[in-house]
Formats: sequence, structure tokens, C-alpha cells
Amino acid sequence: MRLILLGPPGAGKGTQAQRLVKKYGIVQLSTGDMLRAAVGAGTRIGQRAKDIMARGELVPDDVVVAIVADRIDQPDAKKGFILDGFPRTVPQAVALDRMLTAKGMKLDGVIELKVDANILHKRIANRVAQAKASGEALRPDDNPEVLRTRIEAYREQTAPLVDYYRWKGVLKSVNGMAPIAEVANAIDSALDAAPAKKATRKKATSKAVAGKRTAATKVGGRKKPAAARSGRFAAAAKPGRKAAARSKTTLRKSKSRRG
Ligand code: ADP
Repeated sequence: MRLILLGPPGAGKGTQAQRLVKKYGIVQLSTGDMLRAAVGAGTRIGQRAKDIMARGELVPDDVVVAIVADRIDQPDAKKGFILDGFPRTVPQAVALDRMLTAKGMKLDGVIELKVDANILHKRIANRVAQAKASGEALRPDDNPEVLRTRIEAYREQTAPLVDYYRWKGVLKSVNGMAPIAEVANAIDSALDAAPAKKATRKKATSKAVAGKRTAATKVGGRKKPAAARSGRFAAAAKPGRKAAARSKTTLRKSKSRRG
């Protein structure tokens, strides 16, 4: 079983991942944990990631892609894995697809935990209060200011993956605001159900898609039409430097808003 858990900080990915690990006898691969370990050990990657993580921004794609590529080759991941915190950008998802294809592996599902932003803030505030009360060490990025940046980074850079995986026909969305046991049941049902239907790819040529994009994506924050989004993913998924460059410019947000 090879799964991805997708969801903003505080969505409950860790809790659900632990349960799925037991249920399927697979390993949980959390890029956040791997990076924190690298920071703790003071490796070169850790030194590169430390300040970026403390600000709540995303570590460069090449760093995390290399870590994951190495990790899924380990013997304990042979039986399957659940990726938690990766991929976080469309270029990372494209890199993962290539990695899996090269190894003759396939994803069994991508589970999206949907949670409203105001609930996330409350959940993290509770987590921090509990950790403080029990004298546990706090993560440097578990504070309200950095949390805003982390949620913003999710909204801008990671949320587009929902469309990407829907387009690929592997997305299973679950209400992450329900009680833990209900979320667990919903995930189990989604995984037992027939594979999600692949979103219809428009027959539009890339030129037509590009045309629609110009017409419909000018206003910031407005949702792009599905055809434009699919066109964008098709370009990102296509091998070749031009496509990769295009996907990076279109999809990587320069800076997270503050405050
Ligand atoms: P959260 O609890 O916010 O979901 P994680 O523990 O998964 O966070 O990750 C903590 C931090 O590690 C992120 O804010 C980011 O800086 C970095 N990080 C983890 N995974 C990735 C990734 N796939 N790409 C880029 N940065 C990552």
C-alpha cells in the first residue's frame, strides 16, 4: 500500500498516519520529521533547512526530493509507505511520479484531509498549550505568527495538489473536521472503495488551454477553470526542460504573505 496524506498543518495527518501504519504494516515517511532530524544532527541539509523551517516556509524542492528518493529505497519501505508532508508542491509531485514510475511502483491513493483555516488555528493553539502544560519541547515553528505562514504556504503551494491528484484520478477527500474515529472510518471506506474516477481531460490543445488561462486567470485569488488547471498539470508532468521551467514559474509562489 502506497499512500499520500494531504492536508494543512494541524489537519490530523500524523494521527491518521500512525493508525494506517499499524493497519497496513507500512512505514510513515514524514519529510517534516526527516528534516527536523537533519537539523538536530547538524548535517548540511539540516543547516540549509533550519532557518527556512523556523520561518514556516518550504525547503527547496531538490532537497526534499533527494531525501525522499533515498528513503523509499530503504528495505523497510518495500512493503509500502505513507507519505506525510510530501509532496508539498506540484514539482515535488511530478518528481515523485517519475521516481515511482522508474521503480515500477504506483500510488494506491491520495487522501486529502479537509479542514477550515479557523479550526486549524484553534487546533494548533491547543497543541501548543498542551505541550507547554506538560513541559514538552515545542517546535520552533509552532507559534501563531509562523503558523500563519505555514497555512499560507499550504494554501498557495500545496493546495494545488488537490487538483493535480484529482486530475490523475487518485484523490480521496475526507472531512478532517469530524471526530478522529469518524475520519478514520471515512479513510477506510475511501480506500476500500473502487478507485476514484479520473477527471475528464479536456481535449483542448495546449494552445487552447493557454488561451483560456490568459482569459480566465488574471484576477488574483480567483479559481482557475478546470481545463486551464489540467493543461498546467499536463505541462508540468511532461518531461523536458521547458515544461519543468513553466511549471516552476507558474506554480512556485515567491513569498508567503506575512501578518
Ligand atoms: P506541518 O506540521 O506544518 O504539516 P511538517 O512537520 O510536515 O509540518 O514540516 C515542517 C516544516 O518542514 C515545513 O514547514 C517546511 O519548512 C519543511 N518541510 C517538510 N516537508 C516539506 C516538503 N515536502 N517540502 C518543503 N518543505 C518541507
